[in-house]
Amino acid sequence: MKADKDDKSNGPATTTKRDKSTAAKPQGLSSKSVSKPGAARAKKKADRRTAAKSGGARRRRPSVSPETVAAIFKRFAEIEPEPKGELEHKDAYTLLVAVVLSAQATDAGVNKATRHLFAAADTPEKMVALGEDRVRDLIKTIGLFRNKAKNVVALSQKLLDDYGGEVPDDATALESLPGVGRKTANVVLNVWFGQPSMAVDTHVFRVAHRLGFSNGRTPQEVERDLMAIVPEQYAVPAHHWLILHGRYICKARKPECWRCPISDYCPMEEKTPAPRK
Ligand code: SF4
Repeated sequence: MKADKDDKSNGPATTTKRDKSTAAKPQGLSSKSVSKPGAARAKKKADRRTAAKSGGARRRRPSVSPETVAAIFKRFAEIEPEPKGELEHKDAYTLLVAVVLSAQATDAGVNKATRHLFAAADTPEKMVALGEDRVRDLIKTIGLFRNKAKNVVALSQKLLDDYGGEVPDDATALESLPGVGRKTANVVLNVWFGQPSMAVDTHVFRVAHRLGFSNGRTPQEVERDLMAIVPEQYAVPAHHWLILHGRYICKARKPECWRCPISDYCPMEEKTPAPRK
């Protein structure tokens, strides 16, 4: 599972267009203000900013029915009742470090590095004592290792300074740690603390769009849509199901529709046929 500090910079590209028919029109402008195009433009700009901050109030919501959503997650639950992430860890701290290291790296690559790293340091105290140079050497097989080494030592120090060496079970506190963004915090809260949360990576983003769960333009919008429609009983495992489905079946370039267990619920018109033997 990948995660990174800068969800914005690594977020998937926009796939939907603003629905012009539902765009809010300026209200209550006086004849004086209407006669000033600059003022009208400024107001429109401010409206757009407000809409974006409030989660895109003018964005059309997905139209998938609650029955279909429930049926899809029921199917996932029947196939894999207890889905697991693939990053190796033994506690909240090692999970946090592994997720921080997983930005732009595969889980397999991170696991290879963390086996050596955690053998040398598996607590915040030991990580700080190990130091940035040594951490860097131990994780140099994964992308962005210089910056990640810096963050891992800095977040370990902050855990010691501010949280008694414990990983907090709170999104705001987690996001205050160096190298920890919303996606990383969501993974830790979900996987370790069992809290309903939705870390939207590239797989979740894609699957959510293909299934009609969301037409969000940003990971935050998709997260909001998913949190609103996923039935409560599936709110914790849903994150894993969507990631694993996107990673192994509903792949970016060539989704393997012929073996997809939820193809009967998928609204995609073009489905990939089974390869010829
Ligand atoms: S049918 Fe194809 S596109 Fe639809 S969810 Fe399954 S793999 Fe993805």
